[in-house]
Amino acid sequence: MKILFLHGWHSLPGGVKPTYLKDHGIEVTNPKLDDDDFQAALEHAREEFDKHRPEVVVGSSRGGALAMNLDRSESKLVLLCPAWKKWGLATKVRSDTIILHSRADDVIPYEDSVELARTSNATLIECGHDHRLADDESLAVMLWACQLSASGEKLPWTEDDPESNSKNKPIGDDATYICDSCGEEIVIPLDLTEGVHQRYVEDCPVCCNANVIFVDVDDRGNVSVHAQPEQDRDELS
Ligand SMILES: [Zn+2]
Repeated sequence: MKILFLHGWHSLPGGVKPTYLKDHGIEVTNPKLDDDDFQAALEHAREEFDKHRPEVVVGSSRGGALAMNLDRSESKLVLLCPAWKKWGLATKVRSDTIILHSRADDVIPYEDSVELARTSNATLIECGHDHRLADDESLAVMLWACQLSASGEKLPWTEDDPESNSKNKPIGDDATYICDSCGEEIVIPLDLTEGVHQRYVEDCPVCCNANVIFVDVDDRGNVSVHAQPEQDRDELS
């Protein structure tokens, strides 16, 4: 898979995120882009795109704004806290765009991505703890989003109706766990917009004993779910 990675303002090529993608076998083009001249950076990004024909363009922060303004309609985008309100003219993306953003981002407001996802009917995944999105979880989600975009497959939890506003709700995507108390198989809806490592308590609908539910998505997009009785929770790390 080929990716064009557009770095953020005053970031350098070879950072944690493109390196992570390279380490997972992806061919990454990571050009040094002009920090001060947005238009020059955009022209440079277009040249790189036309030269390498990447399957996915990943844009981080200002690089996200560059990705949105590329004018290459065939390009699939994975945007990391895109600074689209600060740079460039584009205010919409393709609906198959995946946006990653942390609610705790103190550089680019999380709400900017909420707005972009809503007006474009794109998918927003909340992850990470800051603007950098360089923690293990964010890196894994980024890789997963790139692989999914490149494959052309639909997001596992999105619905068919493009007019619907409930994009962030899981539709028809369920998982099951076995209740430890009664042995029944319990069906739960999956909402991956809640994160790739979820922990929550739910009463078994059959025997009413409380279970701690663990939902984990690995970096290949495989979902695993299991449950433990709540009284064991103190032993969990
Ligand atoms: Zn039960």
